[in-house]
Amino acid sequence: MNRKYRKLRIEKRNRLLELAYIDPITGLGNYNAYLEKTKEKLEMNSKKTVIILDIDKFKTFNKKYGHVKGNELLKRVGEEIKHAIRKTDIVCRLANDVFGICLIGEVDVENITERLNNKISRINIGEIWYNLRISMGVYICDKDERDVQSIIDKAIMAHDSIKGKYHVPYGVFTEKFEQKVIRESEIENMMEDAIKNKEFEVYYQPQISTKTEKMEGAEALVRWNKAENRIFPNEFIPIFEKNYFIIKLDEYVFEKVCENIQEMKTQFKDIPKISVNISKESLVDRNFLEKYEKIMKKYDIMPEEIELEITEGSTVNNDIDIQKILNKIKQKRFSIAIDDFGTGYSSLNMLEMMPIDTLKIDKSFIDRIDINEEKAILIEVIMFISKKLNLKTVAEGVETIEQVNYLKRWNCDLIQGYVYQKPLRFEELKKYIKGDKI
Ligand code: C2E
Ligand code: CA
Ligand code: CA
Repeated sequence: MNRKYRKLRIEKRNRLLELAYIDPITGLGNYNAYLEKTKEKLEMNSKKTVIILDIDKFKTFNKKYGHVKGNELLKRVGEEIKHAIRKTDIVCRLANDVFGICLIGEVDVENITERLNNKISRINIGEIWYNLRISMGVYICDKDERDVQSIIDKAIMAHDSIKGKYHVPYGVFTEKFEQKVIRESEIENMMEDAIKNKEFEVYYQPQISTKTEKMEGAEALVRWNKAENRIFPNEFIPIFEKNYFIIKLDEYVFEKVCENIQEMKTQFKDIPKISVNISKESLVDRNFLEKYEKIMKKYDIMPEEIELEITEGSTVNNDIDIQKILNKIKQKRFSIAIDDFGTGYSSLNMLEMMPIDTLKIDKSFIDRIDINEEKAILIEVIMFISKKLNLKTVAEGVETIEQVNYLKRWNCDLIQGYVYQKPLRFEELKKYIKGDKI
């Protein structure tokens, strides 16, 4: 083979290698390069720290300033990262606006993340300066780990752990968080079958009137009984809200409630008004009302027999017009309760505007009654406002007789809590209505 021909071949091979390993926008290595280079470093004995760095709202930047500027920005970010780390360290662009860094040797995480943040959160392209926000996931790898992909996954998990926490620029991987993620995926794998296998059961917690001492309402609370184990709502509801399975579960609970009300009506003259929890995801789902009305029709249930509980947090939303949705619900003659009132930072203005009937005072306020009655002053304020706005009040999580007396003094309407009853199975609820011992 002549020399000229060989040279051409080498050049061609180098160009192909470049394509396979170099990111054309930043000139840094790409994902493949990151895998290879990090793998090489893992063979060394020293400590390594892997950081995944993500530019928040890069899409918005691209839209606002165009792709050319967007690409220039990525290039500048790459440069700044390079300046912030040592020559022996690695930085590559893994995808869109995500950079992978691998630091060798002892690293002060606080210090390096702060340095990266300072360099990138205010960055220039030529003469023009931009403000950016970045978020980082950190994994400190001091064991003898060789699996690059699993190391990157851990840094990504650490990054996920700060999702939604806008004031926290970085998260560090912990075993605890990994356990949480594993548990979450276990729950997600079981949820569909759980509905099919009827593992969800609806319990009812009585609400007792402070005036008549009788049960006037009951809250439907779902339980997940899996064989011998019970999984608690505080664990699975937030997961279902995240993956939207809650829309299915809320509907399932609502149907069970309608079925149970229909049965109670054939047996008793007076039955409690049942309140049902509706997550925000269900509330804003398309056809929410139509679906629920259809279920009610099937069991011959009137809207007056049901109260819908919506957490205070769901009413504070800038994207969707919750008020419109609530007005529609109200037009259909449902009553609406604001759940966990006092925890969601809603404004007094909102209380006046929203078509609500009931305020459920959060347990955290009730708990203060025992410590110091003066600290319970907020309850007095809430009671005062409720009376002015003609709202019914329900105190939840009431555990002691002192709390009951205090709430009676301030004319709270209904009391729900262990002081009277824990949530009951439907069969027990019927006995309770009859006045039988449970
Ligand atoms: P929540 O709506 O605030 O329900 C009240 C919770 O306080 C219930 O917990 C209830 O069992 C508990 N509780 C009642 N009285 C007392 C008391 O005296 N002391 C204490 N320490 N706790 C008391 P649970 O059943 O574990 O439910 C937790 C949360 O899960 C509920 O909080 C609600 O937000 C959610 N949830 C339950 N069922 C459903 C459902 O069907 N759909 C939706 N979307 N959420 C539900
Ligand atoms: Ca509730
Ligand atoms: Ca509540």
